[in-house]
Amino acid sequence: MRSTSALLYLSGVTVSFDGFKALNNLSLLIEPGEMRAIIGPNGAGKTTMMDVITGKTRPDTGEVVFDGQADLTKLDEASIATLGIGRKFQKPTVFENHTVRDNLLLALAGMRSWYRLLTAAPTKAENERLEEILSIIRMGPQQHMLGARLSHGQKQWLEIGMLLAQNPKLMLVDEPVAGMTDVETETTAQVLREVNKSHSVVVVEHDMSFVRALGVKVTVLHEGSTLAEGSLDQVSADPRVVEVYLGR
Ligand code: ADP
Repeated sequence: MRSTSALLYLSGVTVSFDGFKALNNLSLLIEPGEMRAIIGPNGAGKTTMMDVITGKTRPDTGEVVFDGQADLTKLDEASIATLGIGRKFQKPTVFENHTVRDNLLLALAGMRSWYRLLTAAPTKAENERLEEILSIIRMGPQQHMLGARLSHGQKQWLEIGMLLAQNPKLMLVDEPVAGMTDVETETTAQVLREVNKSHSVVVVEHDMSFVRALGVKVTVLHEGSTLAEGSLDQVSADPRVVEVYLGR
């Protein structure tokens, strides 16, 4: 296993489904504190890559090193989660019958502490962190609203807040702006930029206005491998990227 200062390091990762290579010798390096956007056409391998990082899919070959030590390919999903990798899926799953505040408190206290939450007041530290997270996700005014009453955008921001409350070393975020309005998309970019001040993030997204608003390094996946890497302007000027996206 290679020694590296990277937070996350994928090398030579290949995943085959029935002989078809969804990932083909993929390499990726995420520095501590970084936020990286992963883009690529449908079928490029973005979801499979996230599944490999979280242990949902085991690669045929290659290594996945996290935090300088753990080779994730040897671990199951539950063990990987305890190392500090948190994932938010595309579809938001907040507790609809609980308020924004209680959703965040449950995430802060850990789901095992449900009983304590219902029977005891939050600690001072929990209350302080709760206020910080409400500010980061811009949902202070909605803190007493039930999950069920939130807009699609607000549910996504709340779920980002719930992930933040668990304080993972790396946050994986799957297509956060799918189905959002332009204004919600811009707000989501601002929320994630704020999250990135304290947390490392890998975000998969199709929406180019969102990726532009994030303003971070971009990795373009194509046919299971990295096609290009750099700023959005750099990769957009790459003729191979233009060909993949526009078929020219
Ligand atoms: P993306 O997220 O970039 O759209 P995916 O990682 O979902 O791409 O898929 C990459 C390729 O692998 C696609 O061609 C897809 O059909 C295939 N694939 C993904 N998961 C499976 C699976 N469980 N069984 C068979 N093929 C799969």
